[in-house]
Amino acid sequence: MMSLTDSISILSGVGEKRMEVLKTLGIETINDLLMYFPFRYEDIQEKSLEEISDQEKVVLKGIALSDPVVNFYGFKKSRLIFRMMVDQAVVTVTFFNQPFLKSKIHTSEEVAIFGKWDAKRKSLTGLKVMATKDGDEEFAPIYSVNKQIKQQTLVALIKQAIDLSGDEVEENLPQYLLEKYRLMPKDQAVKAMHFPESIEENKLARRRLAFEEFFLFQMNMIQLKRQETAKEFGHAIQYDINQLKEFIKTLPFELTCAQKRVVNEICADMKSPYHMHRLLQGDVGSGKTMVAALALYAVVTAGFQGALMVPTEILAEQHMESLTELFKGSGVDVALLTSSTKAKARRDILERLSQGEIDIMVGTHSLIQDEVIFNRLGLVITDEQHRFGVNQRRILREKGDQPDVLFMTATPIPRTLAITAYGEMDVSVIDELPAGRKPIETRWVLPKQMDSVLESMERLLKSGQQAYVICPLIEESEILDVKNATEIYEHLSTFFKSRYQVGLLHGKMKSQEKEEIMANFKDNQTQVLVSTTVIEVGVNVPNATMMMIIDADRFGLAQLHQLRGRVGRDSKASYCVLVANPKSEQGKERMKIMTESTDGFVLSEKDLEMRGPGDFFGAKQSGLPDFKVGDMVADFIMLETAREEAILLWQDNQWVEKVENKELAKSMAKHQGDLIYLD
Ligand code: ADP
Ligand code: MG
Repeated sequence: MMSLTDSISILSGVGEKRMEVLKTLGIETINDLLMYFPFRYEDIQEKSLEEISDQEKVVLKGIALSDPVVNFYGFKKSRLIFRMMVDQAVVTVTFFNQPFLKSKIHTSEEVAIFGKWDAKRKSLTGLKVMATKDGDEEFAPIYSVNKQIKQQTLVALIKQAIDLSGDEVEENLPQYLLEKYRLMPKDQAVKAMHFPESIEENKLARRRLAFEEFFLFQMNMIQLKRQETAKEFGHAIQYDINQLKEFIKTLPFELTCAQKRVVNEICADMKSPYHMHRLLQGDVGSGKTMVAALALYAVVTAGFQGALMVPTEILAEQHMESLTELFKGSGVDVALLTSSTKAKARRDILERLSQGEIDIMVGTHSLIQDEVIFNRLGLVITDEQHRFGVNQRRILREKGDQPDVLFMTATPIPRTLAITAYGEMDVSVIDELPAGRKPIETRWVLPKQMDSVLESMERLLKSGQQAYVICPLIEESEILDVKNATEIYEHLSTFFKSRYQVGLLHGKMKSQEKEEIMANFKDNQTQVLVSTTVIEVGVNVPNATMMMIIDADRFGLAQLHQLRGRVGRDSKASYCVLVANPKSEQGKERMKIMTESTDGFVLSEKDLEMRGPGDFFGAKQSGLPDFKVGDMVADFIMLETAREEAILLWQDNQWVEKVENKELAKSMAKHQGDLIYLD
C-alpha cells in the first residue's frame, strides 16, 4: 500500500543520485512531489514548420505515421519515438522517460505535441502531448528545476506519483467552505495544477489551493496571536495616570490627537492582564519617540523597567540624549548600552540594571546579550523594527518575564502587506504630523545642475540653517561608498571654502568618530553633513532643512522617503533635491513620484506596485510568508476573505476537537513553520 509519506525512492526512475537531486528541490516524499507545483505556465503557440526557429519550443500538430516504439536503456531510462506528418513534411518525435505516453498516440490519428524543435534533424524533443481539439488554448506547466534534473524528468515523476497516490490526497478544508466558495476538492486541484485539462480547470485549481494557503496561514496567525497576547503571560502594569498626566504637562509642546490616541491604546494594553504585542506605525517625523517616552515613563511609575532597542549607535546616542533631557528632574534614571560602551562603565551599568537602579535602558542589539539582566522588565520597545532580525526581537522580548512589547516602524506598510506581515499584532497608527509642519518641497534635477543646487544651498546656510548631502548607495561595496563620499566631501569643502564647515560621516568610521561628527552637526559646528545612508534611520536635527540626494535613482521609494524625513522636522520650510539621471523609465517614474507626494503610505503603495512584495522590505528579513500558489497582492481580496473565515472559525473554541476538522488541524501544524518571522 502506497502512502503519501513514502519516500520518492519507490518511484521508478528514482535512484540514490536522483534522490539527492530532488532533495535539493525540497522533494523527499510522494507528497512533496505532488505539491511541487509549476511556478508558471507557458502559453503555447501552434506554428507551421517555416515559422519555427532552431531550438524553439512549439506545438506541432499533425498525423501520427506510426505507433510509438519504446526502447528501455540504462537504469530506468527510456526513449519513445514515432514519426508524424506535419504539413507536407515528416518529423521525428522523441520523448525521454515518459513511456506511458505510448497509450496516447495511435497511427493515423491526429496528435499535437509540445516540444523543442531541432531544425537540422527535423525532429522534435517532446515535452508534452497536447489536446488536439481545435480552439482549445494550450499551455504547459513550467517547473523550477536545476541543472541536474530536466523539466520532462520531473513531469514524468509527478505523473507517476499522481497515478499511484493522487487519490489519497485528503481534503483539508471544512466542507462548508468548499460549498460556500465553490472550491475544487483538493485531490482534483492537485492533479489540475500539474496536468490541467483546460486553462479554466487550472484556474479553479489555483484558486482553491491559494485559498487553502491563505486560510491555513490566517488560522495559524490567529492561533499565534491568541498565544502571544494570552493572559497567563502578561503583567497588569498599574501605572500612575496622574503622574503621567502631570508629566505630559511639562512637555515643550502639545501632543497631537494621534499621539494622544496611540498613547491611550498602549496604556490600555499595559494595564490589562493580557500580554501586549503591538505595532506602532507612524510616518517619519510623526513623533513616535515621544510616544515611546511616555509609554516608558508610565511603566516606570508602576515600578517596572523599560527597554528601548534601536538599530544603530547614532540613533541610540540620540535617543539617550533626548530621553535624558526629557526626564531631567523627574527622577527617572536612563542609561545607554552599545558595543562601544567601555568595559568598566558596562560592568557598572549591568550591575545597576540588575539591582533595579536603572529605570530605562537604551541601546543597540547589545541589549540582547546574555549578561544583560533586568530586575523587573515590564516593557520592551524596538524602534525602526524592520531593521532588526526576527531573532533579535524575540530574544529581547524573552529577557524579562514576558514584558509587553511595542514595535515602532516608520516604514508605512501597504495595507496589502500589513495583514500578512503583521497580522498577528495589534496596530496603532499615528496618522498626523505635529501642527505647523510644511510639506517638504522636493525637486528633481540632473547631475549637471548640481552646482546651481549648491548655490541655493549656500543661500539657505546664510540664513543659519543646515543641510545634508546624501551620497549614492553602492551595492555591496562599503569601500566604494567611502571613496564616493570622500570625493563628494572634498568637492563640497572646496566649493564652500572657509565660508561653511563640511562634515563627513560614513559606516566605516569608529563609533566614537561618528558620535563626534553627529555632535558637531547638531551643535551647528558643521553646517553641511555629507553622509552615506548611515543617517537614514531616525536622526533628528531640526535645524537641518535641506537635503540633497546624489544619484537618487539608486534608492527605492521607501528609502528615499526615510532619507527625506531627516528634514522638515519642525515648522521651518524645508527642501529636498534629488540629483539623478535615471536610465530606466522606472527610475524616472520614481523621481517623479517623489516630487509629487510626501505621504509615506502613498509612497509605500507605489513602491509595492513597482517592486513587488518580495523586494518591499528588502531581502531576507522580509517577514513575509512565502506563498507557493497565492499572490498576496494580486489575490488580496481572497486573502481578506480567508482571514474573515479564519476569525469566524476561531470563534468556536472547540473547533480543533471536532472530527470534521481533523485534517485542517493537521495541515495547520505542518504549516506553522511558514510563519517565518516567528523563527
Ligand atoms: P519619528 O516619528 O520620525 O521618530 P520623532 O519622534 O523623532 O519622529 O519626532 C520628530 C520631531 O518632532 C522631534 O523633533 C520631536 O521633538 C518633534 N515632535 C514630536 N511630537 C511633537 C508634537 N506633538 N508637536 C511638535 N513637535 C513634536
Ligand atoms: Mg524615530
